[in-house]
Amino acid sequence: MECLFCEIINGSIPSECIYEDELVYAFNDIDKQAPIHFLIVPKEHIKSADELSEKHKELIGHIFLVAKNLCGKFGLENGYRIVNNCKEDGGQTVNHLHFHVLGGRSLNWPPG
Ligand code: 5GP
Ligand code: ZN
Repeated sequence: MECLFCEIINGSIPSECIYEDELVYAFNDIDKQAPIHFLIVPKEHIKSADELSEKHKELIGHIFLVAKNLCGKFGLENGYRIVNNCKEDGGQTVNHLHFHVLGGRSLNWPPG
């Protein structure tokens, strides 16, 4: 199975890890769109948000708490954005569920 983020999680592709626990791995995006831009991915290979089910409820809650705690650590008290791009029309390019966390500048809305 070839999955870029599974290979990042298992260390065969290097990344700038900022947080890790038994459920998730967080690392800086290689193409930052803001001064702070990292990704939080579940260690379980889930293709997209569209593949989520009841059994993932705790995992998704955990991901949002990890995001909040990391944003506190990075001093983003003025705000930040958590984004999930889902499947083709959502702009997903890596088919392993991930949440972008962006901050450190004022972000535009709506996205294009
Ligand atoms: P998506 O477009 O699927 O929502 O987001 C995929 C993200 O993964 C993009 O923001 C892209 O910059 C990031 N990305 C793609 N390849 C790599 C990589 O090899 N290393 C890291 N750290 N990020 C990557
Ligand atoms: Zn994967």
